[in-house]
Amino acid sequence: MARKRRESDWLERRNERALARFSAALPESFPTPVLHHALSRAWTPELPSRAVESYWRAHPLRADRLARALAARSGAPAGWSWRCDEGESFRTPPAPYRDATFTRGPGHCCICGQPVFRFGWHRALATGEAPSRRTRWHGACVAAWKFWLAPSDQIRLLKRIQNRRCAVTGGRLWRDAEVDHRVPLFRVWREHRDTAWPELLAFWGVSNLQVVNRDAHVEKCAAEAGYRANSRQPPRPPRYTAERLILILRGE
Ligand SMILES: [Zn+2]
Repeated sequence: MARKRRESDWLERRNERALARFSAALPESFPTPVLHHALSRAWTPELPSRAVESYWRAHPLRADRLARALAARSGAPAGWSWRCDEGESFRTPPAPYRDATFTRGPGHCCICGQPVFRFGWHRALATGEAPSRRTRWHGACVAAWKFWLAPSDQIRLLKRIQNRRCAVTGGRLWRDAEVDHRVPLFRVWREHRDTAWPELLAFWGVSNLQVVNRDAHVEKCAAEAGYRANSRQPPRPPRYTAERLILILRGE
């Protein structure tokens, strides 16, 4: 009991110090939702940039939507197309502005291509504020990128938006439920790779994700493996060549 009290006293003092630093560094105008978020944390962030990071980490779905909306403002750079070079995986979302050829340089986000402002925010916090040349990512885009690469980390959130029902069977989701891409990423690469960027990113976003019970997932994966094996087979040569058919028709 005494130890618990000591710990909570310590945290209180630590938070007071953090709050003092945070307030001193706070600009005149700061996004209200981020401020609310920062002040409701068990550990008060010490810096506004940490508050922004923590805010987006807590709202990955919002980050996913925003990152794709920002990318839509940029569109794909001229001459870019989605490629998977040696050692690259089709599981990594395509991000043209990460590529040295297409980067928009300092002050721009390497995920969406849009200007980055102080604390990694996507809008200027003060009128006339120039993009921050030191920041290469939006806070939102970092969170979205992590979500796209490892959606399973957000399984609790995804379960909640599905009302804890399996997306395949409609039954209750069990503890062993797994996150699945409705359109599997190998099919995105095979069949949808010409989709314009950033619409392509929607395949990594929440609209292409579902939580399914393990047995339903195993079945779906087996069906997908069958599909992959079938589509990998070379097309069968025709049984008869045209010449041979003519001979058959002539009765020879
Ligand atoms: Zn961005």
